[in-house]
Amino acid sequence: MTTDKLRPVPAAVITDWHETADVVIAGYGIAGVSAAIEAARSGAQVLILERTSGWGGAAALAGGFVYLGGGTPLQRALGFEDSVENMEKFLLAAVGPGADEAKIADYCRGSLEHYDWLVGNGVPFREALWDEPGWEPPHDEGLAYSGGENAVPFNAVASPAPRGHVPKMSNKRTGEQGGGYMLMKPLAETAEALGVRVSYDVRLSRLIVDGERVVGVLARRYGREIAVRAELGVVLATGGFAYSEQMVADHAPQLIGRPGAAIEEHDGVGILAATAFGAATAHMDATEVAFFGDPQMMARGILVNGQGQRYVTEDTYPGRIGQATLFHQDNQAYLVIDEQAHEEALATETATPNFRVPPTWAAETVAELEADMGLAKLSLQTTVDLYNTYAARGEDPLFGKKPEWLRPLAGAVAAFDLRGATAGFPLGGLRTDLDARVLHVSGAPIPGLFAAGRCTAGICTGGYVSGASLGDGSFYGRRAGRAAAKGD
Ligand code: FAD
Repeated sequence: MTTDKLRPVPAAVITDWHETADVVIAGYGIAGVSAAIEAARSGAQVLILERTSGWGGAAALAGGFVYLGGGTPLQRALGFEDSVENMEKFLLAAVGPGADEAKIADYCRGSLEHYDWLVGNGVPFREALWDEPGWEPPHDEGLAYSGGENAVPFNAVASPAPRGHVPKMSNKRTGEQGGGYMLMKPLAETAEALGVRVSYDVRLSRLIVDGERVVGVLARRYGREIAVRAELGVVLATGGFAYSEQMVADHAPQLIGRPGAAIEEHDGVGILAATAFGAATAHMDATEVAFFGDPQMMARGILVNGQGQRYVTEDTYPGRIGQATLFHQDNQAYLVIDEQAHEEALATETATPNFRVPPTWAAETVAELEADMGLAKLSLQTTVDLYNTYAARGEDPLFGKKPEWLRPLAGAVAAFDLRGATAGFPLGGLRTDLDARVLHVSGAPIPGLFAAGRCTAGICTGGYVSGASLGDGSFYGRRAGRAAAKGD
């Protein structure tokens, strides 16, 4: 893709406007639908341009965690105390470095109202807690820990509260029919009941500008270029850049060849079209990292690096394990577990059964296992001896694993080869303010241009918690819709 295909086009050269609306939204995923609802409720005529043939985007394939807290009705019904301050303390510690304090404070303060908004628009949450290690609940439980809130170091920073809110969905199949589908479906129905128009198979390519103001977009429909006029504002909601090889190589090279939890349509075009008009970006190097280990097994075993040494607490949010592995261990990881713990883990439920593969190596002793794995002699044995010494006392002074998961490894042992078992998506994107206005590199808002979702830098600037993408995408999508309808 060259910048020539992205450069903004002056409105003066447009001879024929093919469509017109007050607010034009590119992308019909979570940010787009939330923007559409609020813009329509603010009285604007809204047109969504969606590149594929249906609504949903990555959101409809997602597990469905929405990160909400501060004492939501669901948290309270399940006996959890939380407050805006507590949630804010946790997020500031978990999602940095470089955490955007103003955005996080804003997001936390608006969380209870955002929960009500989702429920009011038909998003169902079942009053049930999933309290076991896992990427997400295996059934339709509505609440789970989704960011290591109850593990070190965060359980000492803020009082642990589960904040991953999952829309109720029976017969869930992650990546096909996850909770994200039950987030998108009622919202799309709400948008369309409000009179929002949608043009499918239309792909935004460039902005149309009049002086410093964005007044529309150029898009392609079935190979033909069309001009769409936005009387009040354009909202970019096209997703991130996980599938732009060039942008990943330029900004987040740790993800080269390993895009995950994203869709091919996340090719970064929304970001590029806006930066071609002077928009600023932020945190382009930050990435979410998924780790393809079974959390039920990880909590019961030990994770070691290429030197046979532990490097992270095994009972934390698996995304944190993924970041620790990819960023700090050269993507080298092995899970070591004894027979009893392995059997216990296999008897549990999981939302990710595809991670339950047979071990790569099995041996009668740690010494044999160490040799089979090709680790330096005594390296793994020393690690296991140290772990066992403290585990027998219910302690883990090195990494702070919770006592409930601590038991010395004994008897026959096995190891899983988890080298390279990571994938992820970039967290960076357009720099926006609290009204979802896209900021120029000068710091001033670009008139007529708004953005939300993964094409923006959201609340996560380094670390990640599950639910942050659907969370800030819907939260700032709403803001974008409202602000665009005002025509600022
Ligand atoms: P999307 O929801 O993907 O919407 C963007 C839309 O824009 C798409 O419909 C796309 O087709 C369209 N589009 C793209 N380019 C153009 C263009 N040029 N013109 C017009 N339209 C365009 N996040 C969480 O917070 N919680 C989870 O539990 C979670 N689980 C996940 C599980 C899976 C399997 C996957 C795939 C993702 C998961 N995510 C989760 C991530 C989350 O789904 C995305 O980050 C989120 O949907 C981003 O929102 P968005 O509105 O920016 O993008």
